[in-house]
Amino acid sequence: RIEVSVLHKSFGDLDVLRGIGFSTPRGTSTVLLGPSGSGKTTLLRSLNALDPPDHGVVRIDDVSVDFSALPPGKAGRAAGARLRAQSRMVFQSHNLFPHRTVLQNLTEGPVVAQRRPPDEVVDEAGALLDQVGLSDKADSYRYQLSGGQQQRVGIARALALKPRVVLFDEPTSALDPELVGEVLAVIKDLASEGWTTVIVTHEIRFAERVADQVLFLDGGVIVEHGPPGQVIADPRGKNAPGGSCGAFST
Ligand code: ATP
Repeated sequence: RIEVSVLHKSFGDLDVLRGIGFSTPRGTSTVLLGPSGSGKTTLLRSLNALDPPDHGVVRIDDVSVDFSALPPGKAGRAAGARLRAQSRMVFQSHNLFPHRTVLQNLTEGPVVAQRRPPDEVVDEAGALLDQVGLSDKADSYRYQLSGGQQQRVGIARALALKPRVVLFDEPTSALDPELVGEVLAVIKDLASEGWTTVIVTHEIRFAERVADQVLFLDGGVIVEHGPPGQVIADPRGKNAPGGSCGAFST
């Protein structure tokens, strides 16, 4: 479960997040939509404490960080690291280690960073590769994979670390159009398997199919939230993509 309250973040004079609050139950998919520059990526990075917010509270399951009262120095950094460990971010393009096989890319984090037993990790990694449709690529290297396959390995690599939450930052925007579908299908499967996901995407039709909840951001605040049928098809015709004001305009 994710709970966020009164999140604020500025870059210099620019107030990018202006009091964001929401919650998502465990095992649900939340999609962040909104115009370019509305703060979607900044919000996602706040959840992961990659870009710590200036104020506000982020809780993921049993780890809660109040950024307004973060102690200085080492203690503050440790609190950020505890929150970061609760989630994994999947970026636009995944920088797989080029000199490691696909399987080694998946096992490195759990074995080295999490010190889990290698045999168990290898078994789990095999199952994850199966899940993303790449069990025949376990011994391949990055240069032998298409962009879509690399991105699917990137997703499996994030899952291998068993995060509470998987955060996706425009996971298909760097892909050729014909490769988008295979990656979206994998993300949709995760949602139906009970992973908790937060997804920034411009793929509105995908958002409609995958989201339990859509948050529509504009100017650093959530202007609409609810099930996709309500927010995307917004019968009131304001503020939402697909409304009478047109996609991503306000
Ligand atoms: P897009 O859909 O174009 O990716 P977004 O909704 O994800 O947009 P953000 O990337 O969160 O928007 O950016 C929100 C605003 O914050 C933008 O005006 C951006 O220029 C600014 N911004 C983001 N990161 C930084 C930074 N590190 N330093 C200064 N300004 C930043």
